[in-house]
Amino acid sequence: MITDTRPAIINVNPVFSEITGYSAEEVIGKNPNILRSNKQSQEFYANMWKSILETGHWQGEIWNRKKDGTLYAELLTISSVYDDEGKVQNYISLFSDITQLKYQQQALEQMAHFDVLTRLPNRTLFADRFHQAIARCKRNKSLLAIVFLDLDGFKPINDRYGHESGDKVLIEVAKRIKHAIRDEDTASRLGGDEFALLLTGIVSQDQCKQILSRIYQAISRPYSLDDQTLALGVSGGVTLYPLDDGDPDTLLRHADHAMYQAKMAGKNRYHFFDTGAVQQLAHKHRQLQNIEKAFEQQEFCLYFQPKIDMRNGRVFGAEALLRWRHPQKGMLQPAAFLPIIEGSHLECQVGQWVIETAIDQLDQWRQQGLTLEMSINISSRHLLDSDFITQFQEILSNYPTISPENVQLEILENSALGDLNLVNKVIKTLSETLHVSTALDDFGTGYSSLTHLRYLPVDTVKIDQGFVRDMLDDPNDFSIIEGVISLSQALHRQVIAEGVESSDHGLMLLMQGCYLAQGYGIARPMPAEELPQWLSEYRCPKQWIELANKPLSEHQAALEQLWLTDKHWLQRLKNCLLSSSNTLPDWPIMNYHLCHCGRWLKLAQIHGDFDPAN
Ligand code: C2E
Ligand code: CA
Ligand code: CA
Repeated sequence: MITDTRPAIINVNPVFSEITGYSAEEVIGKNPNILRSNKQSQEFYANMWKSILETGHWQGEIWNRKKDGTLYAELLTISSVYDDEGKVQNYISLFSDITQLKYQQQALEQMAHFDVLTRLPNRTLFADRFHQAIARCKRNKSLLAIVFLDLDGFKPINDRYGHESGDKVLIEVAKRIKHAIRDEDTASRLGGDEFALLLTGIVSQDQCKQILSRIYQAISRPYSLDDQTLALGVSGGVTLYPLDDGDPDTLLRHADHAMYQAKMAGKNRYHFFDTGAVQQLAHKHRQLQNIEKAFEQQEFCLYFQPKIDMRNGRVFGAEALLRWRHPQKGMLQPAAFLPIIEGSHLECQVGQWVIETAIDQLDQWRQQGLTLEMSINISSRHLLDSDFITQFQEILSNYPTISPENVQLEILENSALGDLNLVNKVIKTLSETLHVSTALDDFGTGYSSLTHLRYLPVDTVKIDQGFVRDMLDDPNDFSIIEGVISLSQALHRQVIAEGVESSDHGLMLLMQGCYLAQGYGIARPMPAEELPQWLSEYRCPKQWIELANKPLSEHQAALEQLWLTDKHWLQRLKNCLLSSSNTLPDWPIMNYHLCHCGRWLKLAQIHGDFDPAN
């Protein structure tokens, strides 16, 4: 197209007519703005003319209108033609139709950033908007709600009415969500029947709830599909940035997590993510760092609690128990720090140190003429670590003078034991190759104690202190101990009771056939240096030795047990009645069906030698 400076068209070629639909006759003499589409702003044309006047040249893409009114895109170059004096004489416009290209480009963009089905932004664009929203939120100090929605009852619709119908429903849901939120918010489809929303400019949780209830109402309205009417619910999870301060992936995961809780709580509701939990996580991380530092600075040490044979009072071993000598808080028990390192890289490192230190102590005792069995606690993760056996063997080989038979590993009997086959193999290797013995610790507290006992070739069963502590009060605990003891005997395992807090506990255990014991009633855990002194002074209760030397008949034992438990019951009752403090000690069992004495009477009745009427 050639124009003069007015500008009026003075000539066009046949391709011009082909593209625009105007014949040459129709346009010659007219202003080229007959092609204008008004898709470009005034400013756009001003810039264009500025460039033409200053440089004599302009190139760009422009949307124009054909004779029949349809829009088309052209790639346009305008060049000025000058006369001899350098004055503009004509403008020559060369253009080609790039409409197809433009539409393809748009389609590609759409595909890259929008969900094909619902035309909502996809994950990629969502992430983009996320960053923008966070920046905006920082600028105007408002909150950003990240919402994860998952439809309830969508799958049955899909299954029952087919995918096409399912798609229709999804499109409708998307439309309703989009309608319920504001323009500056983003709704995106993450896939399937999952949607994510970004609600910006939130000032309170209440405001966020209002928007959510609007969205929920919109989604819950019935859907008409062909001649059916369908209902859908939605479960949602919400987290609020920056109260929950993390990268987009984390925030979305938190919202997802809260959504899962909403599902668990019965669907068709939403949950806010508990940011307290996040802070707890951060707190735990700091604690772990402190513990790591303490470990490096050698603030950990071992205490030792004696294990004795109640039949003769002989001390045959000790259990190594971890302590943290905290510079400010004093001596800390494992409960204060072991749960924190559980599952971290420190778990095995600390475990390794415990083994080394305990074995070194065993060697020092040996040099002092003390032969003891050392019990060492090991976590199941450490036990199942692939390097564990080699490392353990190496430690043992550094101490050729101690006999590995004097080393016992205590494995916690709980549900976290892991792969039983593997545990079984490790225990076998320990016993057959390393000649080290093993014990099942806290026995009876796991979910499948019988299975463990059946499949794990441990040498010793350690009855959990909870049962032992309460055996004098609670006939159930008493019976469990009886069961564990006879089971262990049947399977040729040794039994040791922990938590023996008084000589009466010891007597009861002895009468039941368990003679190895450990507990505050014998000694509290102590530093290694104090053990020789304690050993030289310790005398066990003489009733234990007497009982061991003069076993009771079944009847005598039953009577003795009744006597011990009743004495204990009465003592507790007295403690309660005479207590002057505000917090009463626990009452003994007051239901005569459930206490030791009641059980005893009941048994006597069954056996026929007792008539309650008398
Ligand atoms: P555990 O192996 O069952 O150890 C016995 C715990 O009961 C010890 O607590 C001990 O002080 C306490 N105890 C002993 N006799 C009595 C008693 O008569 N009455 C009462 N109420 N308690 C008694 P501690 O030292 O606080 O250890 C707690 C747990 O921490 C241990 O339970 C063990 O599971 C774990 N642990 C301790 N040291 C280590 C270690 O070096 N490695 C690993 N993996 N775990 C350890
Ligand atoms: Ca133990
Ligand atoms: Ca234990």
